[in-house]
Amino acid sequence: MLNKMLNENLLKLDTETAFSVLTRAGELEKAGFSIVNLGIGQPDFSTPAHIVEAGIKALKDGAHGYTPSMGLVSLREAVFKDLTERYGYCPPISQIQITPGGKPDIFMAAMIYGGRKKEIILPDPSFPIYTSSVAYSGATPVTYGVNEENGFAFNADEILSKITSRTSMIMINSPHNPTGGITPASEISKLVDGLISYPDITLFSDEIYDRLVFETPPHSLLSYPEILDRLIVLNGWSKTYAMTGWRIGFGIWPKQSVEFADKIGVNYHSCVNAATQYAALAATSGDQGCVENMRIIFKRRAKLITEKLNNITGINCQLPGGAFYAFPNITGLGLASDDIQTILLEDYGVAGLAGTAFGHNGEGYLRLSSANSDDSIIKACTMIEQLANNHA
Ligand code: PLP
Repeated sequence: MLNKMLNENLLKLDTETAFSVLTRAGELEKAGFSIVNLGIGQPDFSTPAHIVEAGIKALKDGAHGYTPSMGLVSLREAVFKDLTERYGYCPPISQIQITPGGKPDIFMAAMIYGGRKKEIILPDPSFPIYTSSVAYSGATPVTYGVNEENGFAFNADEILSKITSRTSMIMINSPHNPTGGITPASEISKLVDGLISYPDITLFSDEIYDRLVFETPPHSLLSYPEILDRLIVLNGWSKTYAMTGWRIGFGIWPKQSVEFADKIGVNYHSCVNAATQYAALAATSGDQGCVENMRIIFKRRAKLITEKLNNITGINCQLPGGAFYAFPNITGLGLASDDIQTILLEDYGVAGLAGTAFGHNGEGYLRLSSANSDDSIIKACTMIEQLANNHA
């Protein structure tokens, strides 16, 4: 029961199971158990040295104060240049906001476009913060599927069929967490075309994994001029440059809402810490070889984990097109996803996440992060095989 003095929307706020599993895995390790952690979604690499050095240098050089609330001009200029070069277009730097991770952009978008009587359309399964933030705002999350039968891509017609007079925003994410699926450019174009008939609806494109693609070229909604006046793009440095703990990302906002994003930012965090912004500047403006090296390794590991999982009776896994997640179908094991998550961690020492941590459609799946060494992936799959054999 919630104390009656508290905001009742707090009951709608959810969390990220990845963090509770991370904590439990830590406790088990402390108690002397050996744990393979395929739970949390973060690169196992260190941040490349030249980026770390830039952060240290900034601290030594005295970057100890506040920066502009929207972020350092030099950093926003670097983002503008990078996106313009890679996708052909980027709104002016007045619409680029540097945020403490990409995650706050989800919360801000929900605060700006949500609220009572609004509906926001989002994927199921999806990064759990979408539903949580939307529900907390008072809006109703309306879901569409990202299904195995469709290669874990979204279906534009399904999304468009969910639109009502209350729809204020549609959220999409490709490459997709938790499935690693990629929605083909043709399907994205279809969605954009369909949205021409709904000029008041804003499109939120989460592109945090845009450069972690294996077979297809990186793709962005920035390449669609017809939607730019109502497009929000989330992106950042966490996944691309192995910088999850630095807490830095960015949102690109349409003119209609950028002032509110800035106001929320000022109310909440003022600005991202200065040294981190200089580190991000070094990342974006420096040599991109580190990104390509990591991408190649993630691609190899995606194949490795898929092959190993497909060798286990009762498990079927599609090859992910991007990001660093495998989303095996585990219905053949005859256990609920939540139970497998618990048994796997407590009895077999493998941290993975139940598909249901990402929505109802995640039942029957597990999310395993392949951002781990080959040895850890092989060890985890051996343990999963033992679990499968013991429950056959
Ligand atoms: N969007 C998606 C789909 C994610 O998977 C994540 C992190 O896991 C984020 C956004 C947030 O990233 P950050 O760590 O930069 O806040």
